[in-house]
Amino acid sequence: MNNRKVRVRFAPSPTGPLHMGGVRTAFFNYLFAKKNNGTFILRIEDTDQARYVDGAEDYIIESLKWCGIEIDEGIEEGGPYGPYRQSDRKEIYKEFAESLIESGNAYYAFDTPEELEEMRERLKEEKNSVQQYNAVTRGDMKNSLTLSEEETNNLISKGEQYVIRFKMPEDENIIVEDIIRGTVKVNTNQLDDKVLFKSDGMPTYHLANVVDDHLMKISHVIRGEEWLPSLPLHVMLYRAYGWQETQPEFAHLPLLLKPSGKGKLSKRDGDALGFPVFPLEWTDPKTGEVSRGYREDGYFPEAFVNMLALLGWNPGTEEEILSMRDLTSSFDLNKVHKAGAKFDHEKAKWFNHKYLVGKSDEKLARLYQKILKEKGIKVEDSFVIKVVSLIKERANFVSEFWDQSWFFFQAPKEYDSKVVKKGWKDNTPGVLSELKKQLEKLEIFDHDNLEKTIQLFLEGKEIGMGQIMNPLRLTLVGAGIGPGVLEIAELIGKEETLKRLQAGIDNIRKE
Ligand code: GLU
Repeated sequence: MNNRKVRVRFAPSPTGPLHMGGVRTAFFNYLFAKKNNGTFILRIEDTDQARYVDGAEDYIIESLKWCGIEIDEGIEEGGPYGPYRQSDRKEIYKEFAESLIESGNAYYAFDTPEELEEMRERLKEEKNSVQQYNAVTRGDMKNSLTLSEEETNNLISKGEQYVIRFKMPEDENIIVEDIIRGTVKVNTNQLDDKVLFKSDGMPTYHLANVVDDHLMKISHVIRGEEWLPSLPLHVMLYRAYGWQETQPEFAHLPLLLKPSGKGKLSKRDGDALGFPVFPLEWTDPKTGEVSRGYREDGYFPEAFVNMLALLGWNPGTEEEILSMRDLTSSFDLNKVHKAGAKFDHEKAKWFNHKYLVGKSDEKLARLYQKILKEKGIKVEDSFVIKVVSLIKERANFVSEFWDQSWFFFQAPKEYDSKVVKKGWKDNTPGVLSELKKQLEKLEIFDHDNLEKTIQLFLEGKEIGMGQIMNPLRLTLVGAGIGPGVLEIAELIGKEETLKRLQAGIDNIRKE
């Protein structure tokens, strides 16, 4: 690494909700900045007005906040190199585009869409493998290279539509080192004369991106692999401006792949296979369509970012549960893989489970109380804390707690017929009635005393454990689910246990 101060940016375009791949890009930038005492910048790249989507910018910012990705410089935070939204920097770019014309690295082009189409058709007929505006074709087109200076100035002052194109040199090898991909080598003959500036006064992505990275003193560009094809042009732009000395280093992150490993992970995969691809729920402002989010699905942000961090990178140890602090201290851009990273929804749930069981029962109880309140259940925190401690191992999400524990809060209203059929014998009501008498005598109604009493009872009657425990669970829970039946009895207490026991004796019938 060079010795520059580390300054990295996440530069999303507000064209819709942020895909989880985008969150990972932001996160890797953030981790890299933290690891190197650097600065993490959020720059909004909104020069393509046609693709602008209302609400997307706020969504991006809220997503980063939820993930715990702190922005050092950005549109809300400000900073010494602002503004940080490209549409607010509009004035800056024109000058930079024109300076390229002056230095002979760019030119005005006046071709209409029809003329461009004609060129493509002609090249196709001539069986040219490439049909683009480049060193070979630009000489036949309507631009400031083929027109005189006077003609060019006339057209511009007449208000003719134009673009500024980069003048890609002919037959040169561009060689760049990418931190992840190694040496990238491209011949300029494969590249076209990209549009840098449009007559609507807006730069294109390429110009604005490179100019801003330079002005904002970006040291490392860490972005998705889909931008690798733009890299040679960007390098040529640095050269054209004479900015090679401070050109950032580049790292292109591997794609996030579908669970099958075939192709890029898309929203459609999530819809088909039942998982979110966005960090937060998103409502499309035009269609009203709602896309689910990790937050609303009940993921903890720490679990989500831990899972994301290990898509395409790992610290080289077996350890998978890594806190933000672990991640920032061990992150290494040089160890990011080249190959695409397969997304695994089951693994994502596993991460959430790990974070869930790692939380204190008090914290989980607080979260669960919200759900209980919605259900109209009023219950002491201390009780919920005990419930949570018994069931959390069985859950991936707090939202699953209810299904795992509703019987702590209310008596069963029905009895699972399958369990009845299997475990409820003709003599069960009689046996349970006798047991109930023993339990009534218990002064301390806790797990250990219950166990001792039942043990003695079983020995006296010479019957097996199953003949008591399964029917007992049925009376308390109504089904064959839940944690230890004696733990349940202890927690719901003597009165409730005996009540449910009696209700079961009275009501459970084999069909
Ligand atoms: N605005 C681009 C995007 O939407 C930024 C790409 C880059 O980081 O250079 O991803």
